[in-house]
This record gives sequence, structure tokens and C-alpha cells, in this order.
Amino acid sequence: MHISSARTRRTDTSDADVVIVGAGLAGLAAAHHLTGAGLEVVVLEAGREIGGRMATDHVDGFRLDRGPGLLCADWPELAGLPGLGLASTLALRPFTPGALLRTGDRCLPVGDLRAGTGRHARAVRQGREGRQGHGVAYPSAYHPRSTKQALNAARSFGGGRGRGRTPRATRTTMSDALDLALLRAGFARLANTPAERLRARAELPAGEALSVRGLPARTADTLVAPLLAALLGDPELRTSSRVADLALRGFIRSGLCLPAGGASTLPELLAAGLPPGTVRRGVRATSVAANGVGTADHGTFGCRAALIATGAGDAALLLPGLRVPDYHPVTVLHHAADEPPMSAPALVVDADRRGPVSHTWVASAVDPSRARPDRTLVTSVVLGPAATDPTGPLDKAVRARLADLYGTSTDRWELLGGHHDPRAVPAMPAPHDGRRPVRVLCGLYVCGDHRDASGPQGALSSARRAAVEVLRDFGLRTAGVDEDEELAAA
Ligand SMILES: Cc1cc2nc3c(=O)[nH]c(=O)nc-3n(C[C@H](O)[C@H](O)[C@H](O)COP(=O)(O)OP(=O)(O)OC[C@H]3O[C@@H](n4cnc5c(N)ncnc54)[C@H](O)[C@@H]3O)c2cc1C
Repeated sequence: MHISSARTRRTDTSDADVVIVGAGLAGLAAAHHLTGAGLEVVVLEAGREIGGRMATDHVDGFRLDRGPGLLCADWPELAGLPGLGLASTLALRPFTPGALLRTGDRCLPVGDLRAGTGRHARAVRQGREGRQGHGVAYPSAYHPRSTKQALNAARSFGGGRGRGRTPRATRTTMSDALDLALLRAGFARLANTPAERLRARAELPAGEALSVRGLPARTADTLVAPLLAALLGDPELRTSSRVADLALRGFIRSGLCLPAGGASTLPELLAAGLPPGTVRRGVRATSVAANGVGTADHGTFGCRAALIATGAGDAALLLPGLRVPDYHPVTVLHHAADEPPMSAPALVVDADRRGPVSHTWVASAVDPSRARPDRTLVTSVVLGPAATDPTGPLDKAVRARLADLYGTSTDRWELLGGHHDPRAVPAMPAPHDGRRPVRVLCGLYVCGDHRDASGPQGALSSARRAAVEVLRDFGLRTAGVDEDEELAAA
């Protein structure tokens, strides 16, 4: 980064070059780009904790994420953050095999192309089809080499021989085998389609697009739709098909993972990499202008530019007129069990969609640091209208469904915590503009997942775009930050 020092100087009365409102992923990432460019930055966070929707609660030796915290393992945006060394410090714990679709008494492994043996699978495995594991530490773990091996993992349901489900529960039928073969071929095609081609496709609601993409209706309905609903947080599948294609492609190419230690590991690492004193907790912004940010109890922070990095609803309170999207509500429930109901670190998706559970996983099998050594942590996600049910009745219904999905009694499971967020995921119906403007006027900017794509990757991407606009308006060079084309193609 080259800086014209004459143009970066600020006045004596300002507290920082840039004041950022909100210490979620977007605000912290923007702070990295701007401090990396030599600017003085203050980040104001209303809460006592940083991380926003990626916070983790510590309860009785367990680490409970407030959101699902599922990350796509290939994070070009993360690797692009300056001066962080995240590649060596952030450990990601992979789900293997990619996902297990539970339908009837069967369990079908999908999504992990590394498990295939065909030409496309080999190419993806060997990274010949594009950027793989882009700079993010990906600990070696169980990677099935064949469908048979993945099915063996599925058979670990019930914690092993003699406990929980019998092997019969995971047998596959001929039609399952056909569905899986068709799905694998479709996934391989999608994985090898350049992102630009996907962005150029006609945009439909994702559910409608499924029926015109060449997959038999049964394969689309039973296998792809529930998986997409889980990836997008949208059980109705009204999300733009472009967004859905890109999400599915990311899942197939690199799989899903959890940050070791909880979702908050990522914002905590980001905050720790900023100059000391940059982040001020417990400071709520009440007004924002290009030359200063007013707060509830801490006066006004003078600046040369202000960047609002809150969720859409809070941003609209500070910037009246800003568009507020619809949201997908999400509830996450965490249970403690004495025995693991399944030993595979896999994402279990309810392909029958009987509700209320959309997807669930044995969090302590994926990331052992999330539970006490003597207990098992099971995390489950509820989407759609059921997510707004009160915790008591919802827990009862969730336990009943988990007993079916894992094939074991859940009567003695203990509810450790539940977190409901009515504004968890900004909706992205077609047509979706994934690059909403981040510059309001010279000196006033806005970023966050609602400006880009819902989810951590969108939050980071919007932060980088906003940082580029700030640097341009300051007359600074943006080399090193403005790598839009390269990242977009990833
Ligand atoms: C329950 C749940 C489920 C989710 N599911 C998924 C999923 O399945 N897949 C996926 O990809 N993503 C999911 N997400 C979304 C993902 O967590 C977010 O996209 C991402 O964390 C957004 O980051 P952000 O920085 O844009 O906003 P936020 O994380 O919301 O950060 C905004 C910050 O601004 C602060 N703030 C607000 N107002 C003020 C103010 N006036 N003054 C000072 N500070 C203020 C807030 O306290 C907060 O810390 C989920 C989130 C939740 C909660």
C-alpha cells in the first residue's frame, strides 16, 4: 500500500481519520483494510462483546454459537485481509463427508466431490479447477476417498456398533444410488462452471430454477432443495438462483467448516490484529455525519469519514431512508448429551423436511474444543416460521425430530441454550444486487452483509469495497485492497 502522507493528515480536533460504527465482521475487516493503509481508525461497538451475529456464549464449559457459524472453507476475502496472518492462526474444522441427507430410514452422503472418483472429482481434489483452500489453514482430517467410504461414515450413526441406529438404517436403495449418481454429475458440472458464467445466468427464485436445471424432479426435491435451504437459511427457496448456484458451488468445491473454538474466534482474531485501543466496546452511536459520530454516553467522535457497519435495521436508524431488506429468522438450539449420537463430523440435513429441524451436527465431533471432555454438544438449526416459536415448545419438538434423525433417545439431553434472531439472514430474492453502493457521499459510507450477500463472505466483501471508496476519496492508492475482479472470479 502506497500512501500520500500529505493527504492523510487529519485535523487536531478529530479522534480518528475514520470512525466505524459496529464491530461485527464487516466493521472489523474494514478497520483492517484502513489501518493497513496507514489511517487512524476507531471502531465503536454498542455491545460489551464484539462479533455481532458471530458471537459465541461460554456456558458451563461449552462454547455456544448464537448463529450456525457454518463457513465455506474457501475464503478468498479472508486471505485478502492485510497484516493478519490468519492463514496460520485461524483453524477451520471441516465437516466430513460434506453432508448426510436423512430421508426415511436412509442416510445419503452428498456434496463432497473429494469423495468421488471421476475426472471432475479428481480435478477438484487436485485443485486443477481453480483456487482451493485459499490461504486458510485446513487441518487434515477424515476425507472419504469413495462413496463407499462416505457411506461407512454415515453408518457411524448411533455412535457405533450396538448403539443407536442399526446399519440397516443407512442402507441405500437402487433409486438412491441413481439419485446420487445424477447428483454427483450435476455437482461436478456446477463445481467446474466459472463463477462469472453463473452470474450471467437468468435469475429466478432458487426453488423454480431447480426444476429447469436438468435434474430429475425427485433428485432436486429430495436431495438438492433441503441442502440449499440449509445453506441459504431460506426454507422457501425464494433466494436468487444466482446466489444459490454460487453457494452450492462453494459447498461442493471446498466443503463447510466451523472455526475452532466458536464463531467468535474470527472476529476476536480480527480485533486482536488491530492497533491497541482501536475498538471501543459499550459505545452506541446515535447519529452519524461525515465529520463526526455522536454517541449515547461518550460524546462525539470527530473524524474525516464515518463508516456504518451495523446490520441493515440499525444502519437505517442512523441513515434514514436506507433500504431495509426482509429477513429469514433463524433459531439455534444447543443440547448436551452423555454419548455422541453419531461419531462422524458431518452435517445432517433433514431431507424429508418434516420440521422443525432443518440441519444439525455433533458440534463436539467437528470441533472438540466446543464441549467439556465428558459431554457431547449437539447443535441444531430451525428455519422458517417455526424459528419464531417459544423456546419451551420448540425444544420439545426439536428433541423429538432429533431422536428420529440420529436414531437415538434424546429424552436425557439437556438444553444448554437457544438463540433466536428474527434478523439473522437478510433475504436475497431475485433479482439480487450483490454489489449495493457502499458510498453514500464523500465522507459517509455503509457496509455489512446487507450491501452484498448475506453471510460472512458478503460482510467481508462489502467491507473491502467500502474501504476502497474511503481510500479513493482520501486520494490514497487502493492497491492491495481493490482486488475485486480477482476475488469475484474465485
Ligand atoms: C442466528 C443466525 C444465523 C445465521 N445463519 C447464517 C448462515 O446460515 N449462513 C451464513 O452465511 N450467515 C449466517 N448468519 C449471518 C452472519 O452471521 C452475518 O452475515 C455476519 O455475521 C454479518 O456481519 P456484519 O458485520 O455485517 O453484521 P453484524 O454481525 O450484525 O455486526 C454489526 C455490529 O454492529 C453493532 N451495532 C449495531 N448498532 C450499533 C450502534 N448504533 N452503535 C454501535 N454499534 C452498533 C452490533 O452490536 C454488531 O456487533 C447468521 C446469523 C445469525 C445471528
